[in-house]
Amino acid sequence: MAHKETYDLVIIGTGPGGYVAAVRATQLGLKVACVEKEPRLGGVCLNVGCIPSKALLDSSEYFHLAKDHFADHGIKTGNLSLDLKTMMARKEQVVAELTENVRKLLEGNNIRIFHGSARLVAGDRVEVEKNNGSAGKSDRQTLAAKAILLATGSAPIQMPGLEFDGKRIVTSTEALAFKSIPKHFGIVGGGYIGLELGSVWLRLGAKVTVVEMLPQIAAAMDGQVARTLDRILRKQGMEIRLNTKVAGAQTTRNKVKVTLEGNGKEEIMSCDRLLVAVGRRPLTRNLGIEQAGVETDPRSGQVLVDENYRTNIPTIYAIGDLIAGPMLAHKASAEGIAAAECIAGLSGEVNYDAIPAIVYTWPEVASVGLTEEQVKERNIPYCIGTYPFSGAGRARCMGEKDGFVKLISHSKTDRILGVHIIGPRAADMIAECVLAIEFGASSEDIARTVHGHPTFSEALQEAAMAVRKCSIYAS
Ligand SMILES: Cc1cc2nc3c(=O)[nH]c(=O)nc-3n(C[C@H](O)[C@H](O)[C@H](O)COP(=O)(O)OP(=O)(O)OC[C@H]3O[C@@H](n4cnc5c(N)ncnc54)[C@H](O)[C@@H]3O)c2cc1C
Repeated sequence: MAHKETYDLVIIGTGPGGYVAAVRATQLGLKVACVEKEPRLGGVCLNVGCIPSKALLDSSEYFHLAKDHFADHGIKTGNLSLDLKTMMARKEQVVAELTENVRKLLEGNNIRIFHGSARLVAGDRVEVEKNNGSAGKSDRQTLAAKAILLATGSAPIQMPGLEFDGKRIVTSTEALAFKSIPKHFGIVGGGYIGLELGSVWLRLGAKVTVVEMLPQIAAAMDGQVARTLDRILRKQGMEIRLNTKVAGAQTTRNKVKVTLEGNGKEEIMSCDRLLVAVGRRPLTRNLGIEQAGVETDPRSGQVLVDENYRTNIPTIYAIGDLIAGPMLAHKASAEGIAAAECIAGLSGEVNYDAIPAIVYTWPEVASVGLTEEQVKERNIPYCIGTYPFSGAGRARCMGEKDGFVKLISHSKTDRILGVHIIGPRAADMIAECVLAIEFGASSEDIARTVHGHPTFSEALQEAAMAVRKCSIYAS
């Protein structure tokens, strides 16, 4: 049955972009509705992305510590065993609780939630189709809106010759829910998703091979940090094949035979599961953007927006993985807040020079701002200060000696241009650096800020001191 309701704002998608935008818009007095096609709210991030991957990274790290490191601390674990079913159930529980929290958050803010697939009918109308399961019938409902915000996120890119079958050739979604530990887990793509999921299954006992076409894993990272991560992961037992292309794959009942091309040679790699993690594409399929006349980038498929997140159709806005920029949850949320403010007539904005990027391997990698390669490319005069975690007392207490902090500042103004950290708790340490860049801080500002002792953040202070060759502890 079709009927019409009017909202100030209808948001399509309840990922970290959509649901955060909904709450902000409500705070600003707008009447808001959200449409979500999945039964659970929270998008990729909460259901099949950031949260389940971190839950498994934490569980698998505990297993690895108990197996390989507790003995160093005098803790005997006896006959250690792994119950994968319980580990997966715990991950499920974390996801269920957090997605339910999003529902409560939206309901608590009087935001209407519609479950169903949304499609643009016009610049001021959204059709929601609710599938009624096996009966094959569907309810359609039209929502009238003064403004519409597209926040439908992204989906994994499928490579020709490596079509996903959900069993042998899989996306990250299936790799987060294997029922048994693969003997040999092949991964196409050395980006953060491949490295994080590779780390999970490596720690749980799989042989892991990462195949990367480029000469470096985590291509967007500072080169020195990426090389260090490569060395540490290999030391942990991960096989990494750089400069290697995957030409195709053949699946049998139990195996995937992957054709690799590198150094002018062809080779077959046999594994029992193959994760293809070569990037994600904006999710615009069946969204009705063509009919509504919303412009997209013909190459990337991203929805084109101006500085107010407005598309070429003045009442339609877009944010998150759907538009240009890094595909990250915190970037989507920041855009959600800014877009809601713009829609409400304020001037919301996001500082794209201060968006942290994190890889949750162990050690973690976190960075913000320019890499050394980018600074060189732009001919910016710069200074570097580095400090190893092996020199930080707290890291020593934890038995963590790998990694370092690298701080890049302008050689004339001392303004911080970028910070790159590989080491324990890098993900949390980067927040101070993001704030420093937001405030236009100098390396001296960090160097003269008193940092608690003993903490990992002392390594950041020492790196900042090292910029002007004043590090107290560096030899
Ligand atoms: C394995 C993995 C790990 C990740 N780890 C991290 C991490 O640690 N940190 C980080 O910052 N980022 C991480 N990401 C990326 C992060 O998940 C995304 O950047 C983020 O979810 C994007 O948010 P979004 O709101 O744009 O879209 P999404 O989270 O993708 O949400 C979009 C929502 O829209 C819904 N939708 C789509 N089409 C329709 C339609 N037609 N009608 C109704 N609803 C629709 C979808 O069902 C979905 O719920 C990870 C991603 C993956 C895959």
